[in-house]
Amino acid sequence: MFYFIYINGEFVETKNRQAVINPASGEVIAEAGVASKDEIELAISSAREAFDAGAWPRISLEERKGFLLKISQGILDKAQELARLETLNTGKPIKESTFMDIPSSAKTFEYFANNLEGFLKEETRELENARSRLVREPHGVVVLIVPWNYPLLIACWKLAQALAAGNTVVLKPSSLTPLTVLELARIIQGTGLPKGVVNIINATGDVSGELLCADKRVDMVSFTGSSEVGKKIIGYSSKNVKKLIMELGGKSAGIILKDADLELAINGSLCSIFLNQGQMCTAMSRILAEDDIYDKFISGFVEKAKRIKLGDGLNYETQMGPLISKAQREKVIEYVEKAKKEGAKLLCGGKISDNPELKKGFFFELTVFADVLPKMSIFQEEVFGPVVCVSKFSDADEAVQLANATDFALACAIWSGDTALAQKLASQINSGVCWINTYGMFYNEAPYGGFKQSGFGKELGREGLLEYTRLKNIVTDQTQGTKPIVNYWYGF
Ligand code: NAD
Repeated sequence: MFYFIYINGEFVETKNRQAVINPASGEVIAEAGVASKDEIELAISSAREAFDAGAWPRISLEERKGFLLKISQGILDKAQELARLETLNTGKPIKESTFMDIPSSAKTFEYFANNLEGFLKEETRELENARSRLVREPHGVVVLIVPWNYPLLIACWKLAQALAAGNTVVLKPSSLTPLTVLELARIIQGTGLPKGVVNIINATGDVSGELLCADKRVDMVSFTGSSEVGKKIIGYSSKNVKKLIMELGGKSAGIILKDADLELAINGSLCSIFLNQGQMCTAMSRILAEDDIYDKFISGFVEKAKRIKLGDGLNYETQMGPLISKAQREKVIEYVEKAKKEGAKLLCGGKISDNPELKKGFFFELTVFADVLPKMSIFQEEVFGPVVCVSKFSDADEAVQLANATDFALACAIWSGDTALAQKLASQINSGVCWINTYGMFYNEAPYGGFKQSGFGKELGREGLLEYTRLKNIVTDQTQGTKPIVNYWYGF
């Protein structure tokens, strides 16, 4: 099957093509078009034209809402097909794509459709002898660059917000996982959205990055991916100064206090690192356990980790799939070897699965390191795989100090029976999101995003939508008889 790219309302059969791989088997599942330099140019100019001269930024909010609802429904209509495709392309268990990725993608469009009018409402402020109207406008052309771990979901978060705000878009999925996003193009075409409003191209980042992010016709770049690539994008975008959202990497800490419900903390922590094969920006890849319960936590955690069933994501019994690629698995192996050399204690996993049925895929065993110290690379660097390190702390102050001891500041999870203490720690921890006695719940209503090397800007919620708008201040004189002092400043 061949997946076309989508420019100016049409599917384009590109000259360049690439194979798309199923990471569970290493087999080719489809071919996707790869945009050339000219096709990237065309995508940008189509989005520009659609914004400057097209109907989209000028239609009523009610009509805009209607289009978003149609996209949401289109995703739901194809939910089963999309879930299967997402699992085939990413390897994630079908339970995750069926119950998380696909319905959440549809729900985000529905949420912003139903709330855009309220969120974009203008505000009036009475000033001294003047009135200010604060008006939310779309930025214009927005480039959306998304990673491979949640290909459709992250694309839909960005797309729903960008469109709800009235922008036009060039969307670029990761070339490892372009399929569901290219399928989304069919849904979008079916809604009758004006041509050029959404353009979806597939290309590798090194070829397309500078073309997309430095271009003068692009007003905003919303990026989710690694901190390393994020820094490059900030560099490209600085050439013509653009509004940016950067959702980057993480090395988040799950803190287990001695008064936590241990079973809850163990089960939640398993999910917080092994869901999606640990390939989550918010993965709690560092677990900090209080010394009183450290040994008990570790033995319960490792015992359950060993029972998580590795396999092909299409099998409903599978609880963890393969890593996204051979290269990603090699990167994970490098981190594991380094951790061992630096003295971390390997408690389970740490190697490629030796199950003969999984030989062809990019599987890696669930890996737990204990006695990890802050100076070790496994404590500091993002692995992006099913590898967790556990460290010990002796009081709440030390927990905060350890949690804050990396360059990242994306998320944390605190497990405790004392909610007042947990709230206090949450206020001291350097992270954009803190979960207390839960993990990883993303709500369309609640903004999400990191600090420090984890990036800046918010996605979701009212604040997320407003990132995709610019705020205009229109000041009108209100002096009696319209005689503002400025008219007499020079005494004329
Ligand atoms: P990546 O940075 O390698 O790639 C992300 C996207 O950027 C892809 O579409 C890729 O093609 C593109 N890209 C690569 N080089 C580029 C360049 N020079 N210019 C422009 N675009 C370029 O990340 P990945 O490996 O796809 O995803 C994993 C990373 O994403 C992890 O670091 C993870 O923490 C992060 N992530 C962050 C969040 C968040 O919300 N903070 C969410 C998911 C993933």
